[in-house]
Amino acid sequence: MNERLYRLYIGGQWLEAKSGRWFDVVNPATEEVIARVPDAGVADIRLAIDDAARIQPVWAQTTAGARSAILGRAARLMIERKEDLARILTLEEGKPIAEARGEIAYAASFLEWYAEEAKRVYGDLIPASHPGKRIMVVRRPVGVTAAITPWNFPAAMITRKLGPALAAGCAMVVKPSELTPLTALEIARIFAECELPEGVLSVVPGMDAAALGKAIMEDFRVRKVSFTGSTRVGKLLMRQASDTMKRLSLELGGHAPFIVFADADLELAVEQAALCKMRGMGETCVSANRFYVHRDIADVFVQKLSERIGSMGMGDGASEGVQVGPLINRDAVAKVKRHVEDALEKGARVSLAGDAPAADGKGYFYPPTVLTNVDASMLIMQEETFGPVTAVATFTEESEVIAMANETPYGLAAYCFTRDMARLFRLADQLEYGIIGVNDGVPSTAQAPFGGVKESGVGREGGKYGIEEYLDVKYVSVGGVANV
Ligand code: NAP
Repeated sequence: MNERLYRLYIGGQWLEAKSGRWFDVVNPATEEVIARVPDAGVADIRLAIDDAARIQPVWAQTTAGARSAILGRAARLMIERKEDLARILTLEEGKPIAEARGEIAYAASFLEWYAEEAKRVYGDLIPASHPGKRIMVVRRPVGVTAAITPWNFPAAMITRKLGPALAAGCAMVVKPSELTPLTALEIARIFAECELPEGVLSVVPGMDAAALGKAIMEDFRVRKVSFTGSTRVGKLLMRQASDTMKRLSLELGGHAPFIVFADADLELAVEQAALCKMRGMGETCVSANRFYVHRDIADVFVQKLSERIGSMGMGDGASEGVQVGPLINRDAVAKVKRHVEDALEKGARVSLAGDAPAADGKGYFYPPTVLTNVDASMLIMQEETFGPVTAVATFTEESEVIAMANETPYGLAAYCFTRDMARLFRLADQLEYGIIGVNDGVPSTAQAPFGGVKESGVGREGGKYGIEEYLDVKYVSVGGVANV
């Protein structure tokens, strides 16, 4: 395949990096270079922030209707181009093409939702304590913002930030993952065609994430950063943010428990478990990583789930019908292997070992695997695996499983399957997570407040909550009203 040359999108221009350096983007299914992208450095990111700072006051003064119209057009264009965008996404990220189409639709749904929400940024009028006064509360854009995004959802993790930022009246500089810059640059192309004023959006990928991140964090003009990625980097950004007192949204790692009670609808639980676990080959922050199944139904659950996952075909995600693609890179495969080997050494048993990786040895494949007899001493029950491995432990008592589920520094998503309504509400109260799927393995949607507690992050993305992250509350006390 001929590799394509991309450009950075800065201040409405398509530019090479000031350093003249480039980097390769690799297809994880074939290990082929599919594109070359300018390797942005600190000078490029500063240029993007300069442009954003210049246009920010102008963009903040546009009407909600004007911002809404641009977001609406961009959402429609994304859907019109779904097929092309999905192909690019699969080429650089590896996920099966059907999932990539789903991600593009999901990504567009954030632009559509915030096109509407832009019109509903309301203020308040508060009764004053003096007859000659009025107190007005208004919401104003926080100013220039930046987004640092991961590779596992190359489109949706950008629009989930960009939608509310633009709706609120904020300019945004996006630093996508170096592993998946192409989808990000295609999103920039869409906004350029929608006549977003130059400088309101820049997309600046580069290899030296630490230097780019530092330049963003040190710049006082950037008033808010929204980050999705690992807890390790999230903690670093939180430390760096304190010097300029930036607002932060951090969508970080997870370690989701998936609890199946003896009274659950077993067919539903198996189907949702397969969807939740295998979406993106298990490389999602809300992937179930610890299965707790009631002892009475554990054998039959494991058997049915192993059959269901075992029936999923693995291969190049670009081929129609493939349901399990490659992992993102060699390091990701090594991490999954380490978790499985550690579990086996400590006594786990294999219920499904999956298909062998691609015959030519190319691509970062790891076969779908189901393990039983796992316990809390194993790495897989402590850390995000980010791979297609299902690890099943058993339990007998509700209180016991709630304690096990909460025994982690993470608190992003948890799942439980039961038909008992009273138990459902007990679990909803007691599970220490930002998102709880009850009889639902795929709860993410544009109108809901996505986000975690504990070391899974701060802030919420999506719905009416997501736009608040980009707005400052200001009050105006007007005196002398009787004399005006
Ligand atoms: P990552 O290594 O933290 O990278 C995320 C982003 O941060 C990338 O753009 C990366 O750039 C950049 N980065 C790396 N080091 C940095 C530094 N020192 N300063 C500033 N930026 C830096 O995470 P990942 O491996 O890409 O993504 C997987 C993680 O994201 C998992 O933990 C997953 O759970 C989490 N995630 C969370 C959510 C959520 O909503 N809670 C959603 C999706 C993923 P490069 O890629 O170019 O190095």
